[in-house]
Order: sequence, then structure tokens, then C-alpha cells
Amino acid sequence: MRISGILLRAMIALASLLLAPQIAHAADRDAIANRPVCVLPGATSADRIFATSNHPRCGPYGTVRVASAHWRIVSGLSLAATPDDPWTLRWQNFFADRVTIIARYADGETVSAAVADGDVGRYITINAMVGLPLPARAAPITDIAIRVDGGRINRDQSDYFSLARQSEIARDGKVDLLMWGLFAGVALAMLAYNLMLWTVLRFRFLLLYCVSVAAILAYGVTWSGGVFLIDPALTGSDAVRINFFLLACLGGSVLWFATSFFEEWALPAIARRAAGAVAVTLIGAGALFALGPASHIALLDRLYYGVFAIAIPTMPCLCLLAWRRRSAVAWVFAAAWAVPFGAALLRLLNGYDLIPTSISLGNSTFYSMCFESLISTLGIAYRIRQIQRERDAANAERSDLKRLADTDPLTGLLNRRAFLDGAIEASDSKPHRLILLDIDHFKSVNDRHGHLTGDIVLKDFALLLAALAPAGARVGRLGGEEFAVLMAATGRPSDFAADFLTALRTLDCAGGLRITASIGVAEAKLVAAEDWTTLYKAADAALYDAKTTGRNRARIHGRAPDARRVSTAAA
Ligand code: GH3
Ligand code: MG
Ligand code: MG
Repeated sequence: MRISGILLRAMIALASLLLAPQIAHAADRDAIANRPVCVLPGATSADRIFATSNHPRCGPYGTVRVASAHWRIVSGLSLAATPDDPWTLRWQNFFADRVTIIARYADGETVSAAVADGDVGRYITINAMVGLPLPARAAPITDIAIRVDGGRINRDQSDYFSLARQSEIARDGKVDLLMWGLFAGVALAMLAYNLMLWTVLRFRFLLLYCVSVAAILAYGVTWSGGVFLIDPALTGSDAVRINFFLLACLGGSVLWFATSFFEEWALPAIARRAAGAVAVTLIGAGALFALGPASHIALLDRLYYGVFAIAIPTMPCLCLLAWRRRSAVAWVFAAAWAVPFGAALLRLLNGYDLIPTSISLGNSTFYSMCFESLISTLGIAYRIRQIQRERDAANAERSDLKRLADTDPLTGLLNRRAFLDGAIEASDSKPHRLILLDIDHFKSVNDRHGHLTGDIVLKDFALLLAALAPAGARVGRLGGEEFAVLMAATGRPSDFAADFLTALRTLDCAGGLRITASIGVAEAKLVAAEDWTTLYKAADAALYDAKTTGRNRARIHGRAPDARRVSTAAA
């Protein structure tokens, strides 16, 4: 199966996993959702709140946006409960000083409770939801009033409260815990796997990928509420600050990862720089939000979301640019990012009240980013294979070029430079034997039979030399009709030379010509660079000796004239 097929199946499987809790939470079994809510500014006494009938603004829940320090009143409820399964008011932890709740029961009693910013850790449940149980009484709850003090960021979750039975929360919590564990496990595995790959391959994009997955996991720890396990005394507002900062780090790191992931030629330099600048600005905006004064947090929040509004389209822009330049990995990236984009779209639709708020919608950022990390790993595998192929092709081309540069075009033997370079490099403490060969009266072959025939003779000579040379020997054409063999000095010095001369005498060159050659042999250990020069001079002297004493013979350097006579024309 092709990688695209595997990818498609993996996407469908994970998308269905992502959507399952979304569907489960869709109804949310919420007693508040879609009920009318009225907003009452300024009042402090519970009796006055419920007694006032002329609320300035009323409308379906979620449509009435309120500023901080206003009461929100939901009436007409009938919430009966038992002491072991009370109704619990829940809200996503948000930036506020205090949340006060007053519940009125059918018998006219009111109960009030408050959660201060510093107490959030005591009420936190999975998904960073604050859960405040409302005492169960014989009479059902009929009205609930909620007051938020210091809720400086007037947006989505600070307006959203939901009601659920304790037992439902416990059951949903188990499902959510499983989901968190599952997705965090996927991300953790991707992190470990790619970190290992990085230690071996050292590709920059692998490291940046690991940074982005670490940011996803850290973001998951805060968004799941796990951060309160680490520090139970953490204030709700500080948890929001940390969460925002980590989300910015996540955005920044995935942008960095993207710029280094595409092929070098796939993105214009300006696009890389722009994406880098967006990443830095994003993290800067996150840091400003995390460290800025609470009095200016609304402004910092607007700045933060403004930068995100620019950052989110950056990724599809990079994909598009890379795709237009025919990047082979752009489609993997687009596939990986389709789900986080889908999640972002859902949140946007929710922001415009087109779809209901749900817990898994809030969690979708984390889930979809884990999904993205998984698909990106497939992209990484694809990219590594691509780089490997490019390197293999470059290596093959380089070795082809080297072979071409080292080869004598006429005979296919090593050329002079390659032979000498290799001979000098071959230095070790073992003795070497150098054999220099020169065809006798070759000029007359050219003169009598033509240059082309001369070339064929040279080729035939080279073929015989290569065939007879022992394994591991270096065989080269030093120039013209002069050849050389460098081999280990085993056996008698004259062995190879004698065998070659014998074979050459019976060789029909160019379809009938007979030629002879003169050979000079010398032996030495090649330890220092000078040893090679000495060896070469010795072999050359022996060759000269062979030429001057009648040709068609071999001479061993340093041997007495009679003893070194290996072969003569008469032999
Ligand atoms: P000696 O026995 O003293 O070696 O005599 P020689 O004729 O073999 O030596 P000399 O150095 O006088 O001549 C070498 C000739 O080799 C001269 C040159 O034209 C010829 N030659 C050199 N390179 C090539 C080549 O690539 N092809 C052909 N056909 N001839 C070549
Ligand atoms: Mg010659
Ligand atoms: Mg010569």
C-alpha cells in the first residue's frame, strides 16, 4: 500500500476517535444551556436579585454577553437532587477574581457559595473545569444567580456555565481521562521516537518537531487541569496565563518546524523569515499575556488573539507556497493540519453561537494537535526517505564522477594521477612491489600500422595486464605505452614479470600483431612519502636496464646482472 493510502486510513481512524466524544458531549445534558438568562448590574442582596423583575437584558443563554461584576440569573428551573448525587455548577477555569453562586429552592430558601481565584485548585476537575456542588435539599432548585467579579476577559467561557449531576460528571470524567491519556500517550510516543531519530540523524526539523510535541504536551497538562495536580495552590488566573503562554509556544514551535521541514527550495527565503517572525511575535504575545498586569489583561488578550489571527493562516500559506513549488511533502503537511484546522473552525462556529459549546470542543485543540503530531511523523518518515534518496543519488553521481576522473579513457585502467595518488596512500609497513612496463618499439607499430591500430594494441596490452594482475593489485597506465602494477611483495620478485612476458609473446594484438615489452621491478616498504619516490626511481632504473640490455626482458633492481636476467628474447 502506498504511504498516501496508509495516511488516509490513519486520518479516518483518528478523526472518528476525535469526533466520538464530540458526539457524546453534544447534548451535554445541560440544564442551563438554551435557557433564558437575564443580566442585572450592581445588586448585592440575594433577595433583591430574585425579586427584581425588570432585568435590563434577557435572552437565551449564551447570547447575552455580560461585563464583569454583573449577576446572571437563570430562572424557571426544577432541579431535584439527592444528597449523594447533587447538581453541580461547572465552568471552564477562566480569568476572574471570584465566582459567586446563589441557588434558590422551591421552598424559598437560598444557598450561596463562592470560589475565589486562589481556591480554584480545590474545585478543579478534569478538563480544567471548576465544579461547585449545590447542596441537595428536599425542595428542587428553581433559580440560580451567578456573579463574576474581576472577569476581565469578557469572552466565551467566562459566559458559559453548565449544570450536571455529580454522577454524570464522574462518568464523563472517566471518558475524558481516557481520551487525555490516549492522546498524550500518542504524543509522548512520537516525542520519544523522533528524539531518538534526532540523536542519530541530527536533522534540525526533527528537533523542532520534538520541541513542538513537548509544547503540545505541556499545553495539554494545563488545559486538562493537570497543572493543579502539580501545584494545588495555583490560582485559576495563573493557570490561564500559563495555558495561553504554552499555546503560543505551541503555535510558534509548529511554525518553526514547518519552515525547516519543507525542502530547502520549497519555500522562498522571505516566507521562511516571515513565518519565523510570526512565531517570535506569537511567543512574545504569549509571554506578555503571562507576565502582564491583571489590570491590562483584556488589552493583552486582544493583542494575543490578534497575533493568533495572523499566525493561523500562516501555516496554510506555507503549505500553498510549498505546493506551488512542487514540494513532495506539502500534501502530508496539509493532511496533518486539516484536523487542527477543522477543530479551529468548530471553535470559531461556536464563537458565533452557531454550534453549542461542549467540553470536547474545548479539548479539540489538544486532541487535534496530537493527531497532527502523529500525521507529521508519517511526513517526517517520508521526508527522511526523500533526503536519503537525494543523498544516495548525490553519492552515486560523485562516485561516477570520481571513477571517470580516475580512469584512463583508452584502456580503462587507472590513469597516472589516480595510480600515483593511490600508491602513496597505500603506505603501510608491508613490503610492496612496483612493476613498470614499457612496450618495445611501439613507435614503429604506429608508424607501420597506423595510430588506430596502435590504440588497439594498447588496449589489448592493458587487458592482458589487468587479467594477470593479482587481486588487490593497482594497475595503471602512466602515459603513452608505459604501464605500472603495484602489488604486495609476496613470492619471488620476478614471478609476475616472467609470467606476463610469456603471455605477451603469444598474444595476437589487434588481430595478429606480436609485441614485446621491457619490465623494471623493485621492492620496498612504503612507510614515508620518500619511500615511494625511491621505489619508483629503482623500478625506473631497472626498466632502463631492461631496455638497454636488449628489451623483451625484466630486470629486478639490485640484482647481479646474471641472476636478475629473468627472461630474454631468446628464451
Ligand atoms: P622503446 O622500445 O625505447 O620504448 O621505443 P618506443 O617506440 O616504444 O618509445 P618512444 O617513447 O620512442 O615512443 C612511444 C610512442 O608511443 C610514441 C607515441 O606516438 C606513441 N603513443 C603514445 N601515446 C599513444 C596513444 O595513446 N596511442 C597511440 N597509438 N600511440 C601512442
Ligand atoms: Mg616503448
Ligand atoms: Mg616509453
